[in-house]
Amino acid sequence: MEIFEKIGDAASKTYKFTAEKTSKIAKETKKRMEISDYKKEIKDIYVEIGETVYEKYVTDQELNLEELQEKCERIQELSDKIVVCKDEILTLKERKQCKNCYEEIELSANYCPNCGCEQERISEEPSESSEEKENTKEDENLEKEEKLEEKTDNNEEE
Ligand SMILES: [Zn+2]
Repeated sequence: MEIFEKIGDAASKTYKFTAEKTSKIAKETKKRMEISDYKKEIKDIYVEIGETVYEKYVTDQELNLEELQEKCERIQELSDKIVVCKDEILTLKERKQCKNCYEEIELSANYCPNCGCEQERISEEPSESSEEKENTKEDENLEKEEKLEEKTDNNEEE
């Protein structure tokens, strides 16, 4: 009786392990699909921007960059999302990217085996909320940068 219990136990552990692995692969696939959707949307926006620019050229109208601002902002938004997805994929694979050469390396590596660059020590469990906070900060910085750019644009016109 006991031996069967043990077999059952081992089997359920194997099942649990496989299920976990499968769910990780499924999550990775989902992230990769998400990335390709974002990339497709970026390409579509590039086309739209191109069409707008060409239309202006053909009709001999002046191109006001502000008209393209919304589209450019959307591209930036999508690019940020791609970066987040890529990070999430690395986390799923329990890998990280070298800050210097961008080589994919072991999560526990303190030095990059490719370029030898010292790596930041990763804290035990980065919480999702801190990630969100970081994103908000980035967005704020982006907004500031854009405002600065607007100002510079205006100055150039004067
Ligand atoms: Zn490196």
